[in-house]
Amino acid sequence: MPHNKTLPEGLHPDTLAVRIASEKSQYGEHSEALFLTSSFIQPDAATAARRFAMEEDGYTYTRVGNPTVSSLELRLAALEGTEAAIATSTGMAAILLLGMGLLKNGDHVVCSQSVFGSTIRLFAGEFSKWGITTSFVSQTDVAAWQAAIQPNTKLLFAETPTNPLTDICDIQALADVAHNAGALLAVDNCFCSPALQQPKRFGADFIIHSGTKYLDGQGRVMAGAICCDRKYVDDVFLPITRTAGMVLSPFNAWVVLKGMETLGIRMQAQSERSLALATWLEGHPAVKRVYYPGLASHPQHALAMRQQSASGKGQGAAVVSFDVQGDSPEALRRNAFAAIDAVRVCSITTNLGDVKTTISHPASTSHGRLTEDQRQAACIGQGLIRLAVGLEHIEDLRADLALGLDPLQ
Ligand SMILES: *Cc1c(COP(=O)(O)O)cnc(C)c1O
Repeated sequence: MPHNKTLPEGLHPDTLAVRIASEKSQYGEHSEALFLTSSFIQPDAATAARRFAMEEDGYTYTRVGNPTVSSLELRLAALEGTEAAIATSTGMAAILLLGMGLLKNGDHVVCSQSVFGSTIRLFAGEFSKWGITTSFVSQTDVAAWQAAIQPNTKLLFAETPTNPLTDICDIQALADVAHNAGALLAVDNCFCSPALQQPKRFGADFIIHSGTKYLDGQGRVMAGAICCDRKYVDDVFLPITRTAGMVLSPFNAWVVLKGMETLGIRMQAQSERSLALATWLEGHPAVKRVYYPGLASHPQHALAMRQQSASGKGQGAAVVSFDVQGDSPEALRRNAFAAIDAVRVCSITTNLGDVKTTISHPASTSHGRLTEDQRQAACIGQGLIRLAVGLEHIEDLRADLALGLDPLQ
């Protein structure tokens, strides 16, 4: 097949990000085809029987497999450095699939208390209905993870950096805690993406993605995935998605597949702008504190630069949070709202991972369902503002934020 030269071994992830995909069709399309079809014609009844029995490779029905979705899985696994990947309809569906595959009644999970809010609700709420218990521990305190281990602990779940305060956990140290206890480690790698951080290199067993964020990169579709050893995909997760159906639509897979071609340069450019903005914010008189792993003032700066260095150099990723000045919760909230309302370029929205910069007030939006005590414990004050930095010119972003911050001095 002239259109299907196999790629040489050992290519750099930047190359794989634009090259690796399912086989091309007989037409030799250069851009990967979108197979927008729910089922596949079988050559004859006996072949259909073998394929449905999983005795022979071949597509049958998109809930079981689709070439466009396979392209996304191949590309993401190549970037994460795992044997395989399985795509899901959303990032949350990937975490649901992880739990359905690995956990049963009576099992225990240790999870960072700073993970994505829906992840906390999934473990503490939905999984608890099925007799699975979860202990939530400090993101950065390895001894607390160790102390939470029980004889029935099967899974440790972490996310690094966290949203919105960008706390970093030590993946290698958590992998050691998990493996010494006979448990497995899952890391949600949504914020760094494999362009900056490959948790597998530090011993993680499962890497979780919300493809909705940086993998798509332009805020268009929802998608998710688990990257791991092939045996888990084939023997544990595929039988579930095939039955339970939380699969990715081919259209969304195609959009994310094309988005991943520019992932490396986007993550690099967005990290550079983030560092420049964080540095400027740190010197602004209306700003009390900046949270960004790329700043030397970040408590886990050295760890972050070591762990987030898949591109060859440590990078801070593209979420920058900061506290404005203010002497009471009311004043802090008033100042934060004033700073947010003044922007004319940034979008007031809670999504992230887009090339358009977004600005939000976590205490009243993404973390608005927490009680004031829970918010205080999580250090999410009324003066906190989160930026998810995109690709606009840095001078324009600085001027946009200055509109709201300069009058607060
Ligand atoms: C958005 C997000 C998720 C959930 O992904 P969806 O695609 O929205 O379901 C999970 N983890 C993190 C860190 C996220 O930011």
